[in-house]
Amino acid sequence: MVSMGYPAISGPKSLNDRIAIVGAGIGGVHMASLLKERGFKNIKIFEQRQEVGGKAYSRFYRGVWNEFGALFLSDIYDQVAKLVERYTPRLKIVSKAPSSVSVNDNEFTTWGNLLIQNTGETSPQAASRRIQDAVARYDRIHRCLFGNYSFELMPRPTPKVLQQIQGTVQDFLHRHDLMLLAPIFRTFLTANGYGYINETAAIYGLVWLPPVAVKGVFTPENGFWVLLGAFQSIVTEIARQNKLHIHLGANVNGIQRLPGPGGIHITYSTKGHPNIYTEHFDFLILSPAMNSLLDIVNFNVKERSIFSRLTNANYILTLVESDIGRRGNDPQVYYNDAIEQPTYPVYAGINFYHAKNNISGDDHRLGIRENGPDGRPQETVMYYQYGYENPWAKDIDVIIQSKLASTLKRLDKRNPRVLEQIKWGYYFPRFPPREADRGYLWDVLDMQGQFNTWYIGSSVCFESMESVIEYNNLIMRIMKI
Ligand SMILES: Cc1cc2nc3c(=O)[nH]c(=O)nc-3n(C[C@H](O)[C@H](O)[C@H](O)COP(=O)(O)OP(=O)(O)OC[C@H]3O[C@@H](n4cnc5c(N)ncnc54)[C@H](O)[C@@H]3O)c2cc1C
Repeated sequence: MVSMGYPAISGPKSLNDRIAIVGAGIGGVHMASLLKERGFKNIKIFEQRQEVGGKAYSRFYRGVWNEFGALFLSDIYDQVAKLVERYTPRLKIVSKAPSSVSVNDNEFTTWGNLLIQNTGETSPQAASRRIQDAVARYDRIHRCLFGNYSFELMPRPTPKVLQQIQGTVQDFLHRHDLMLLAPIFRTFLTANGYGYINETAAIYGLVWLPPVAVKGVFTPENGFWVLLGAFQSIVTEIARQNKLHIHLGANVNGIQRLPGPGGIHITYSTKGHPNIYTEHFDFLILSPAMNSLLDIVNFNVKERSIFSRLTNANYILTLVESDIGRRGNDPQVYYNDAIEQPTYPVYAGINFYHAKNNISGDDHRLGIRENGPDGRPQETVMYYQYGYENPWAKDIDVIIQSKLASTLKRLDKRNPRVLEQIKWGYYFPRFPPREADRGYLWDVLDMQGQFNTWYIGSSVCFESMESVIEYNNLIMRIMKI
C-alpha cells in the first residue's frame, strides 16, 4: 500500500510500450496527455465518433455555445479550472445566473425557497439557522468518516465506515439526521441527472457533494459556475496542443487480451467501410462505460462480475428554436413536478444565450432583451429529458417526441423547430447501493493494471468532468513505474 491509503497499481512497463486508449472523451484524451507528459511515446486513441469530446459536446448557434453535455462547474472543480487555465485560457469561468423552479405553468420559485420550506419554519432566519447547523453537522460527519484526503475518491473506507454510508443518499441523510439538506442533494443529483436520492448510492453523493460543495450553495455565486465558451474545446485543445494520435471514426468492436508483449488485440471498423482491422498493443486503457464493453472486451470472471453490475440512465437533449411563449424569471428553469415522473418527462430547459449573458428577471421573462446577436425574436432553448428505457426503441422515441411537443405547446412555444437532438446512452453508469455498499468502486481501483488494463472514465468514478480528471490524476499518482 502507498502511504496515502490507496493501493499502488501497475501500469505500462516501459516508455516504449504501445498503449491503446478506447474513447476520446475527456477521460481518454486527458489520460493520453498525462502519459505523454511522463514520456510514453506510443499512444493511440480509438474514437468511434468523428470528433473528440464525448459527453463534452458543444454547438455554436446564434452567438453562443450551446452545451449538449457538460455545462456547469461546482465549487470543487479545481482540476477542470486548471485545465481551462492551461489549455483554453481565453475562456472565462463565471458564476451561473440563478435558476427558477416552476411550481406550475405560471408560478416560479427558487431552490433556496424550497430549502427554507422544507424546514417547516415560518421565519427565514430560523430556517437558515437550522440549515446552517445541518451543514456544519454534515461537515463534521464527513470528516469523521473519511478524514482529510486529496483526491475526489477517498481511500477505501473501513468496513465500519462502509456500514455508516450504506444504502441510498436518502438513507444516509436519514441515518445522520441531515434530511434538511435533502433539497440540496436533490438539486445537485436529481436535477443534474444523477438519479433520485432514494435510489442513488450514498457514496456518489458523498464523493460529488462533499461539505465544501454544499457550502458553495450559500455563497453569492450559488456554488455553480459556467464556462463562457465551449466545454468541448477543453478536450479538443488538450488533444491538439499535445498532438495526440487519435483515430476518429474507429469503432472498436472486439478486444482480446492475451498474455505477453503485443497481447492486446484491438479490432475495429470505420464507418462506411466493410473492412475490419486489427492492431496489437502492450497495454490497454478503457474509457467508455464498462458495461457498454461487456460484449467487446474479453473481460475475465472478476472484471465481468463487477462491471456487469453497473446500471445507467439515458439523457435526451434537444435544442429548439421557437417563439418565446411563457417564461419564468431565469433563463434556466426546472419543471419540478416533472422531475420525478417516469419515461422521459421534459424536466428542464436552458436558454444558453441568456444564461451566459446573464439576462434574467423581466429582461428574460418578458423578452425585453434580445434572444441572440441577430435580433430575431425567436428564442433558442435546450430541453432536457431523462429516463431509463431504451430511447432508440420506436415506441419510446414516440413518447420522447410527444412529451417534448406537449411541453412546448403547454408553454406556448409556437413554431418550434428542432435544431439538433442528441440521445446519450450510458449516462451516469453507476453501481446500485448493494454493490456500492460492498466497496465496488475500490475493488475497481485495486484491479487497475492487474490485467494489463486500466479502467478510467465516468463509470469507475462519477459522471462529471471533474471526477474523470481527478480519477486520472489519482492513477498517475499511485502508478508504479
Ligand atoms: C447532458 C449532460 C450534461 C452533463 N453535465 C455536466 C456538467 O454540468 N458538469 C460536469 O462536470 N459534467 C457533466 N456531464 C458529464 C460529463 O460530460 C462526463 O462525465 C464526461 O464528459 C465523461 O467523460 P468520459 O471520457 O468518461 O466519457 P465520454 O465522454 O462518454 O467518452 C467516451 C468516448 O468513448 C467513445 N466510445 C465509446 N465506445 C466506443 C467504441 N466501442 N469504440 C470507440 N470509441 C468508443 C465515445 O464515442 C466517447 O467519445 C454531463 C453529461 C451529459 C451527457
